[in-house]
Amino acid sequence: MTVPTDSATCAIQVHNIHKSFGDLPVLKGISFQAQQGDVLSIIGASGSGKSTLLRCINHLVVPDQGEIHIGQDVLRSHAKRDGTMVSSDPKRLEKVRARLGMVFQNFNLWSHRTVLQNVIEGPIQVKKIAKAQASEYALHLLDKVGLAHKATAYPSELSGGQQQRVAIARALAMDPEVMLFDEPTSALDPEMVGEVLRVIRQLAEEGRTMILVTHEMQFAREVSNHAIFMHNGLCEEAGTPAALFDHPQSTRLQQFLQPLA
Ligand code: ADP
Ligand code: MG
Repeated sequence: MTVPTDSATCAIQVHNIHKSFGDLPVLKGISFQAQQGDVLSIIGASGSGKSTLLRCINHLVVPDQGEIHIGQDVLRSHAKRDGTMVSSDPKRLEKVRARLGMVFQNFNLWSHRTVLQNVIEGPIQVKKIAKAQASEYALHLLDKVGLAHKATAYPSELSGGQQQRVAIARALAMDPEVMLFDEPTSALDPEMVGEVLRVIRQLAEEGRTMILVTHEMQFAREVSNHAIFMHNGLCEEAGTPAALFDHPQSTRLQQFLQPLA
């Protein structure tokens, strides 16, 4: 993962990302890459910068420095005169974002739209796909996450686990090359965690490239083939899940994993 490899199969490359909020440096130079079909888990204590990293990848937060490569496309940011950071080119930003599917901790569904409307919105607005075709594909994806029967329901009529499965279907509807998950189960009641993890596991088995920020250590270990431990805005340790979880090298990772032992 950290070794340069054949760029033809490299799905995403994150290079030297820095981000501060005011005086607070949150990301201090993060780099990694994932090949097509890789599942990369990111673990680390609360506040270590995991969400900021995912947000920098799709420029929901514009990094102060660094590059994101998605296939042949590159996102860079530059400073405006007032010091605020902007992404280089709005058209490219939209194009790259469409290739990244993001699933948030709190689902972020549009509450005034039905499940189906939530799923077809992106394909229609961004990809200019005809409504009938977008709806057909959306129903296929809703079926895949076990929710075709909820197509006409509103998010408030669904459980948290169901809402999160809709959010996954919505991200998949854009046919993203890389799926980004930010603690997709941490806002859920325990009995709903399994249904969401099952969907994510299925995507992993289908060979989807995914970056998964999670506190579900056992799950991370089972589904991912690479793992990163973040500490204080840096990648403290990286390797296979077996190496990280069974043979942590850094004292900080050992301490982080201690409560699980
Ligand atoms: P994690 O997801 O690992 O818990 P975050 O990326 O959410 O960590 O946050 C890392 C640090 O950045 C925290 O100290 C947090 O308070 C700070 N932070 C995150 N977003 C912002 C923001 N928009 N403005 C100011 N500080 C922020
Ligand atoms: Mg977070």
